[in-house]
Amino acid sequence: MTSSTCSYEGCTRPVHNKDEGKCIFHAKEKDPQEFRDALADQIRVWRKEKATVWNFRGWVFVDVQRKDKYPLKKSNLFRRAVFPVGADFYSAKFSGKASFCSAAFSGTAYFYLTTFSGDADFSSVTFSGIAYFHSATFSGTAYFESATFCSMLNMAYTSFSILGDFTNTTIGGDVWLMWPGVGQERKRGRLLLQGLKFEKKGEEEPLLNLRGNALQEDCKLLIRDTKMKKILLEGTDCRLIEFHNVSWGKYKEKLHAKRQIVGDEHYLRNEPSVFGKNIPSWNKIEETYQQLADRFRKDLKHPAANDFERGIFEARLMAAKQKNEEGKRDWHNRFLLGAYKFASDFSGSIFRPVFWTLLLTVIAAVVYGWLLYDGFSNVTWWPDFGKVLKSAVAALRVASLDRGWFSSAVDGSLPPVSDFVRFILSLTAIIQTLLTAILITLFIFSVRRRFKHTE
Ligand SMILES: [Zn+2]
Repeated sequence: MTSSTCSYEGCTRPVHNKDEGKCIFHAKEKDPQEFRDALADQIRVWRKEKATVWNFRGWVFVDVQRKDKYPLKKSNLFRRAVFPVGADFYSAKFSGKASFCSAAFSGTAYFYLTTFSGDADFSSVTFSGIAYFHSATFSGTAYFESATFCSMLNMAYTSFSILGDFTNTTIGGDVWLMWPGVGQERKRGRLLLQGLKFEKKGEEEPLLNLRGNALQEDCKLLIRDTKMKKILLEGTDCRLIEFHNVSWGKYKEKLHAKRQIVGDEHYLRNEPSVFGKNIPSWNKIEETYQQLADRFRKDLKHPAANDFERGIFEARLMAAKQKNEEGKRDWHNRFLLGAYKFASDFSGSIFRPVFWTLLLTVIAAVVYGWLLYDGFSNVTWWPDFGKVLKSAVAALRVASLDRGWFSSAVDGSLPPVSDFVRFILSLTAIIQTLLTAILITLFIFSVRRRFKHTE
């Protein structure tokens, strides 16, 4: 006994292809023109009935044009199509090239488990709702060129055999690119994010959220010609992202040099609400900077790598300023990192340690001159150059670890110095020696950082 309705689950349409036992939409073998007419009729019915979702579940799409004879743009089943409600393409198959060029999805665009056998053209498409490509398979190139995404873009388990091309895409809202899929056997291909534009379309701040994507050797992101200030990277391994000609956010603190920063740091400082419930910790931001420094050092882009290395320490300092899980602040690190920043801008400044060394020498010279050479006994507007010179030499000898100075100048002083003065002089000399040693080390660190070429 043969059933007169389509065997696809839930489908009540009459059988079109008797061999397959399926309706015209679910059958694999059918006349393309006949399918096209039936599709047009079906859409008319959905419009008339004001269907809440257009259900293309399990459909097999064939097109009139032969794929070898016509370029992609001629394949026009859904070219400029307007989907006023959600469109459900669950498990649908596009046997040739699929063109959604310039289409508009007002509701959710649901392409879960959809198979695109040829190239798929989503160029200039507007996705007002969620674009859900979970587990979709693109056997050709997937073009998303000049598309606009206003909500979430879910790429979990999506596989791109060749490339997912997101050139000149507009991000119009808080867009999340979710690309987890750890432990998947399937090849996932590469995604090219190129020339992304950020334009406010709705209430949300336009942002591309790349947080928590699991990248691997065979599924990399390429980001090109894009402003990174609008992209959140926390939790995604930046060592596996290729950056070409991107610009970063800038952060400038009073008395400190400008530094290139990631969007995550910018928003964590200024607008943490964009992270929703999962506000990243400074330790996570530190991890991102560590990966970026590695990536840019490897690519021989040293100035950027230097900035990210400063970012690592800045994130550590910010973490030390916050209370940890036990409600305690890390005073030890806070002091050390604060001093490191103060002395050399985290090895970002060569000038700073030199300046502090000179200032320290001058201060020490004043102390020696005052206590030992009677430098302030009769202060006039014109200093006694003999005494100034003696004090300066004393400070320089201490700075250069000349141990002879102390015994000859202090012990041999006439009249002899009191024990108290001797104590102050010793203390000053020890502090000067220690600080000078530290500052010279920091100076060497800064020079090394500046002229670093390979790790
Ligand atoms: Zn059917």
